[in-house]
Amino acid sequence: QKFVYDFTEGNRDLKDLLGGKGANLAEMTNLGLPVPPGFTITTEACKVYLESGSAPAALRDEVSAHLAALESKMGKKLGQSDDPLLVSVRSGAKFSMPGMMDTVLNIGLSDESVTGLASQAGDERFAWDSYRRLIQMFGKTVLGVEGELFEDALDEAKAAKKVTVDTDLDAADLKKLVKVFKKIVAKEAGREFPQDAREQMDLAVEAVFNSWNTDRAKLYRRQERIPSDLGTAVNICSMVFGNLGPDSGTGVAFTRDPASGHAGVYGDYLQNAQGEDVVAGIRNTVPLADLESIDKASYDQLMTIMTTLETHYKDLCDIEFTIERGQLWMLQTRVGKRTAGAAFRIATQLVDQGLIDEAEALQRVSGHQLAQLMFPRFDEGARTTLLGRGIAASPGAAVGKAVFDSYTAVKWSRSGEKVILIRRETNPDDLDGMIASEGILTSRGGKTSHAAVVARGMGKTCVCGAEELDVDTKRRRMTVGETVIEEGDVVSIDGSTGKVYLGEVPVVPSPVVEYFEGRMHAGADDADELVAAVHRIMAYADRVRRLRVRANADNAEDALRARRFGAQGIGLCRTEHMFLGERREMVERLILADTDGERDEALSALLPLQKKDFTELFEAMDGLPVTVRLLDPPLHEFLPDITELSVRVALAESRKDANENDLRLLQAVHKLHEQNPMLGLRGVRLGLVIPGLFAMQVRAIAEAAAERKNAKGDPRVEIMIPLVGTVQELEIVREEADAVIAEVEAATGTTLKLSIGTMIELPRAALTADQIAEAAQFFSFGTNDLTQTVWGFSRDDVEASFFTAYLEKGIFGVSPFETIDKDGVGSLVRHAAKLGRATRPDLKLGVCGEHGGDPESVHFFHEVGLDYVSCSPFRIPVARLEAGRAAA
Ligand code: ADP
Ligand code: MG
Ligand code: MG
Repeated sequence: QKFVYDFTEGNRDLKDLLGGKGANLAEMTNLGLPVPPGFTITTEACKVYLESGSAPAALRDEVSAHLAALESKMGKKLGQSDDPLLVSVRSGAKFSMPGMMDTVLNIGLSDESVTGLASQAGDERFAWDSYRRLIQMFGKTVLGVEGELFEDALDEAKAAKKVTVDTDLDAADLKKLVKVFKKIVAKEAGREFPQDAREQMDLAVEAVFNSWNTDRAKLYRRQERIPSDLGTAVNICSMVFGNLGPDSGTGVAFTRDPASGHAGVYGDYLQNAQGEDVVAGIRNTVPLADLESIDKASYDQLMTIMTTLETHYKDLCDIEFTIERGQLWMLQTRVGKRTAGAAFRIATQLVDQGLIDEAEALQRVSGHQLAQLMFPRFDEGARTTLLGRGIAASPGAAVGKAVFDSYTAVKWSRSGEKVILIRRETNPDDLDGMIASEGILTSRGGKTSHAAVVARGMGKTCVCGAEELDVDTKRRRMTVGETVIEEGDVVSIDGSTGKVYLGEVPVVPSPVVEYFEGRMHAGADDADELVAAVHRIMAYADRVRRLRVRANADNAEDALRARRFGAQGIGLCRTEHMFLGERREMVERLILADTDGERDEALSALLPLQKKDFTELFEAMDGLPVTVRLLDPPLHEFLPDITELSVRVALAESRKDANENDLRLLQAVHKLHEQNPMLGLRGVRLGLVIPGLFAMQVRAIAEAAAERKNAKGDPRVEIMIPLVGTVQELEIVREEADAVIAEVEAATGTTLKLSIGTMIELPRAALTADQIAEAAQFFSFGTNDLTQTVWGFSRDDVEASFFTAYLEKGIFGVSPFETIDKDGVGSLVRHAAKLGRATRPDLKLGVCGEHGGDPESVHFFHEVGLDYVSCSPFRIPVARLEAGRAAA
């Protein structure tokens, strides 16, 4: 096994082995770009080190051999006293990670070689500047000395000389500073700064290995779902110097604008500087465009290289470079991060440039990005006061009055106030308050904190872990620096960026939604450019996708919106929503009916209302399939709350004026009370024990369909039976339904061609899908209930209670209600699909749980061979896009 690769030996496909930085340094080297020579220690070496506590035995010799080769190429030895070779030791995992060790520059300098470097460069100041940087970086990152101690000493040196920038310190000042720095190291680290160059290098390498397991790095990996066993590579790179005077410098650049995608010159440059100086903000950088007048030759070369890189990577790249006395060096490149909007724009621009094709363009965007673009957002032109910044935990733009406890959140929202719940962190007791709030803001916790998990589940805006906020729940206020925010003060939070603002920031609708709604078309200004890009990408997706996308919608209004968003039918119309509001009383009567006569009366009262709902819905979805689910929820949901009712009756009884109806209701509530309503009398079970209920619903559906037919419409209705566990249940319901349908057909002189199918949402149904398919013309996987029943937990109870702990312990990467659990629930879906199709090859297969709009799950359903997914209207574009990406 080989543990060390020269930059000339690697390439960009070796990210697993060489890390992102190493793989791309190798790629640039092989492209013939000016990269300072060096080599990479593999992630495999790191893994061995982490597992066994020491580096692999072969590593030392391999490093020595590569170092010797580097030394002979450079014509000098590491740390050589009269002309030292210096190197940087740079960490570089497969995914870039905050919390990993910083890079150490100028390794190889010592009390002796610093003079050698000075005389070689003819610049004493430069040599001492490099040395003080080495001690500072090495002290901080390798020896664990508090970085501030060095910074304070540097500030003191500047203050003593009455100057403000580091470049104003001369060689003598820096020499003194080195002494001070060395003292700091000796005192804080309990050892002298190592004078041996190889020892410096080895210690730095080991520190990089160890930095894989710092708390911050671990936390970040868990949150970003990066496996914890990848390890990091270490890059040893010969130094080039941007701190050699005004004809030297260092900079960062993008090959195009990462915010808009536009071509142009984007970046920053700093003269006479090294490494992180550009981003650390120690001196003012100049826009990259100014480099043209500072050093035209290097600028031109850089522009050429950027084109080379973009053409080679076929994507936006970001780069880090250094100029040493007029000579340009490339120190890093990678495919650059971009905003969601830029991702869409860049993908279409690259298609236009002929760099990528449409299938590749689809891979350059994601459903998550599209979803982000669909949230309302804060008006970019608005004047804002930024209070702080946390983790963007659940997207959206929320404005409201600050409240610091759940009780107040609920109370205020009941009286019509919009509130933002602000807590240090939330716990299950905050649930009511979270529901009542526009958004949730916490000062602690990451992406898997209780607040983040629950808010995402509720689709509520959330910013968490905004550490600058000092939340004082007792005094009902928070302080941010000098600013005090009292209960009732208005704050605005942006769940897409993590930013927290004081006061009300105006919210504007997303242009992308305006476009889907048909209120905006492609045009010239910036928003429209985005819309045009989204329009094109959606067209690519629609062209290639195999999965059809339907909507979950219960009324004509939602159905029409869903159509505008591209729905190809309704996959789930929940009829229980037609039983609410003023109709609840009729349902009560149905439940309380003692005699057949009373029951029939109640059902006949409901029939025309249901029929009207269906007629409108079928009209809105004319020509497209509509799946109507017969009544599913447990009946107690239509009755008053048991505690409230008991109290009411008890009070009335004590006054001796109990009313007859309340008494009957209470009896019924008691009778229907269940310990586990989710597993109780619901779904098909209702149809089987309440005579006439399903027949009434089927009649309403059939009559509505007949009416549409006779009005020259094209209703395509599918009747769906929920919670079936065995084919016998389905057979009984079907027999009754077929009879009703035949009756309606005869009475209306129509042929309706209604199809009847079932939900697959119980493990038993999935396991006996071959039998069930005998009686079902279609299956729709109800993955919410299937997840509950396969895992044996109730969504309403567990998300707020133990999911946080599960996520933190890494038992799930993501809630199984958010993304389908492929191994468990998913394998049942796969199995049932196969069994069902074996019985009935033309069996139509769909899914109607929340998962239908989840990007990862959509890919899974594509792979399993379902015909369609169904999701809420707003998720339809996301599902279309992901279905396209899955097929491309
Ligand atoms: P990060 O992962 O934080 O970007 P890098 O390893 O890229 O860390 O190092 C940060 C900066 O240090 C680089 O952008 C570059 O400016 C400087 N640097 C690293 N290695 C060298 C080197 N061999 N010569 C000159 N500068 C270097
Ligand atoms: Mg870098
Ligand atoms: Mg269900």
